[in-house]
Amino acid sequence: MSIFKRQTATPTTSPAQENYAELALRTIHDGVILTNKLGIIQYVNPAAVIMLDCGSAENAINLDYGLLVRIETKEGRELSETENPLTIAMKTGQALDKYACCLISGASAKRIPISISVLPVQGDKRIITFRDIAKELAEEGEQTEFISTASHEMRTPVATIDGYLSLALNPQTATIDERARGYLESAHAASQHLGRLFHDLLDVTKLDDGRIRPQFVPVELTGEVKKISDDYISRMKEAGLNFRFGSKDSEFGGEPRRLDQVIYGFVDLGFLREIMDNLLDNAIKYTPSGGSVYVGVLGDGDRALINVTDTGVGISSDDLQHIFQKFYRSDNSDTREVGGTGLGLYLVKQRVEAMGGRVWAESAFGDGSTFYVSLPRISGEEYEKRMIAVRNAQMINQSSPVATTQPTAPSVPVAPQPPAPPAPPIPTTPSVANATPPAPPTPINQTNIINNNINGGISQ
Ligand code: ADP
Repeated sequence: MSIFKRQTATPTTSPAQENYAELALRTIHDGVILTNKLGIIQYVNPAAVIMLDCGSAENAINLDYGLLVRIETKEGRELSETENPLTIAMKTGQALDKYACCLISGASAKRIPISISVLPVQGDKRIITFRDIAKELAEEGEQTEFISTASHEMRTPVATIDGYLSLALNPQTATIDERARGYLESAHAASQHLGRLFHDLLDVTKLDDGRIRPQFVPVELTGEVKKISDDYISRMKEAGLNFRFGSKDSEFGGEPRRLDQVIYGFVDLGFLREIMDNLLDNAIKYTPSGGSVYVGVLGDGDRALINVTDTGVGISSDDLQHIFQKFYRSDNSDTREVGGTGLGLYLVKQRVEAMGGRVWAESAFGDGSTFYVSLPRISGEEYEKRMIAVRNAQMINQSSPVATTQPTAPSVPVAPQPPAPPAPPIPTTPSVANATPPAPPTPINQTNIINNNINGGISQ
């Protein structure tokens, strides 16, 4: 029976229109499923039958959608009930817009990359649509590969330029007049910015093109986050900022001090560090001297909630909608002067989502900001079990003569190292005189990009 005939309660739809609509549904390449509010399938179009590999529409009718539409993350990670956006949308009746994931199709469990949406209709029905995005991903992959190769290639000449500019600005290696110093300082700031840009671009493409995948390990999150934050204490002191781990100071409208909770998670430690590095770096960059930064970790049901709060310049509601996009930087006088590439928060979002989490910010312009990272939480029991598995794997690896390439235990992440700087060419600029033979140029500090603010006020 036609789905449209069953829905002829809508008086404005003529039989001719229904025929056209049904024809469209039969011919489009997107999979379309209609369910009732309990998720029981009422209609499946032919494209969905093929993608779900269920043989025929009849086989699917009256089945629970969850038996046929099984998804995992696009990185191939299983999604728990509470983090599965499809399950949440179907249960709550909320819309889901173009969630990129992998469909586990049919008995063969073939993986198809899809973008899936859920639309609640007529109050108690749901329309699930999904499309194969393999071709788009392949095209994106080519683009990503191009960006990553180009960034990699350009890092070397930029490091050389930066090294020479450092030599030119160093009174021990060069004598320059004051006017030339001003020009060279601007050039140096720009070359450092370029170096950071290529470094950040390489970092964000690494996950997109699958060169890195999250390596999950069981951790006690409060301790890990505190350890990372503590590394920033001296930088905060230098910047004239107060820092507190645990809770907001009550004089800033925060809650009274509380004891740290023990919260377990299953995360990639390198990703966690990159996330915290970027958020803490921003908190420092965008908070004037005399302000405060607070970091905390709270258990929130089956989620762990990390907050990085500052009393800095804040973010306007217009900017707040865009800050997680690639290259987005707020354009106001308070932030324009601060160096950055506009890629940090994009990287944060990318890493958080790869670990099954969510990131968002709350802020008011001129009134500080709080960035929240919500990650799946595991119980103490689960943590112990996974730690035993990690230790067992370590023991097996130690006794095995073949070394493994994958880290299996929590370890301090190693930041990517820059390539060794090439030998500098002989400088020819007449205004730069070498007092002594040049030492090899100092490479741009790629390992801790965050610690390098641009002094010259370069902004995009
Ligand atoms: P950037 O390298 O420019 O800091 P990000 O992606 O980290 O790039 O941040 C994007 C933009 O979001 C920044 O340019 C800034 O305008 C705004 N922003 C990020 N964090 C903060 C913060 N803690 N306080 C105020 N503005 C912020």
